[in-house]
Amino acid sequence: MNKQQITILGSTGSIGLSTLDVVARQPERFSVYALTAYRNVERMEAQCLQYRPRVAVMGEPEAAESLRDRLAAAGCETEVRGGMEALVEVCRAPEVDAVMAAIVGAAGLLPTLAAAEHGKRVLLANKEALVMSGALLMDAVGRSGARLLPIDSEHNAIFQCLPNGYTCADPVSPHGASRIWLTASGGPFRERSLETFGEITPDEACAHPNWDMGRKISVDSATMMNKGLELVEACWLFAVPPSSIQVVLHPQSIVHSMVAYEDGSVLAQMGNPDMRTPIAHALAWPERMSSGVQALDLLSMGALEFSEPCETRYPALRLAQRALEKGGTATAVLNAANEVAVEAFLAGELAFDAIPALIEATLEGVEAEPAGTLEVVLGADARARAHARDWLDMRRREAV
Ligand code: NAD
Ligand code: MG
Repeated sequence: MNKQQITILGSTGSIGLSTLDVVARQPERFSVYALTAYRNVERMEAQCLQYRPRVAVMGEPEAAESLRDRLAAAGCETEVRGGMEALVEVCRAPEVDAVMAAIVGAAGLLPTLAAAEHGKRVLLANKEALVMSGALLMDAVGRSGARLLPIDSEHNAIFQCLPNGYTCADPVSPHGASRIWLTASGGPFRERSLETFGEITPDEACAHPNWDMGRKISVDSATMMNKGLELVEACWLFAVPPSSIQVVLHPQSIVHSMVAYEDGSVLAQMGNPDMRTPIAHALAWPERMSSGVQALDLLSMGALEFSEPCETRYPALRLAQRALEKGGTATAVLNAANEVAVEAFLAGELAFDAIPALIEATLEGVEAEPAGTLEVVLGADARARAHARDWLDMRRREAV
């Protein structure tokens, strides 16, 4: 078997680490072409020494210089590059078969798009890229013949519950699927008193009960904007209208999502909450391989619960639905406003319960337009960030 050569975007992050763990278990199937990170030089150095990629890219050019010096001193032959153009380059290189898109946020858009345009197997964790520019990304996949496989556990579950031969971006209804059940854990504040939401600290928000993830997606899970982004993601991946998707609270995170069929069947994918399962699934697809994940023990699992999410507790869900209704660049605006809000919350500059207000004000203040080109999408992203930062400044001035 020819080894698959992989580029891992965001290798120092939570998904990146899980991907390397899975890849290291299958040295006969995979070899690492490139690893990339933003500026965590220490972790990247350790990864280069362990996995010996052909190329390592640091998003921050100064970090690339520092990595280059350290690797040279250690006698490691990995070529070091820096900056966005280098990130794009390691996605479109002819040697590369598969790209794990696991950069967090809008910074992942250009490299992910490059992988899609160049016909790679795109393992998509970076949901923000799809939320910003679903039309462009799905279009690129269609034109190049790239194979898009979802890594987000819910979307990977839905994909697994669709028939063999199903390709992302195809509508699911011709396959008899009538409804998608998108499960949500409810995050760490599912039962916390609403009156105390203003006092929530970044560390509390990042302590997810079931999943160990990066800080941005952890905050998104706490506000449930993560499910809002996933709603948009599911609409693009499975070509369904939002009305065909039902978000359901499932605190145990064992059922990762479900597909209901017109004959009354509901297919679910279950497993322990460990991202190595969807990662291994997408890496090996259409085959299966071991992932290192502990087998699910149904006998000791206890009850599985399902209920409707409360709108007052999770207003972010409604904001995502509103952006979907507006269409065009509105979801790029939603994403940008959310990124600014989460950053401000993590920096201690915005209260947890003010996150939805900032996003709502931005959605109202920045007009949506058809998202026909990358320039239009990036323009909407920039305007939304500027609007959100002005809103934050105004809040700050009012507070003094
Ligand atoms: P993380 O914060 O742990 O890691 C992010 C990675 O992206 C790091 O390697 C970082 O160096 C890199 N990065 C950040 N900013 C960058 C920039 N400007 N330029 C270049 N590289 C940059 O995040 P994560 O939890 O691994 O999540 C990654 C993506 O996967 C997110 O889009 C998230 O929504 C999605 N996702 C994560 C999980 C999970 O369990 N962690 C589950 C589903 C989906
Ligand atoms: Mg998810």
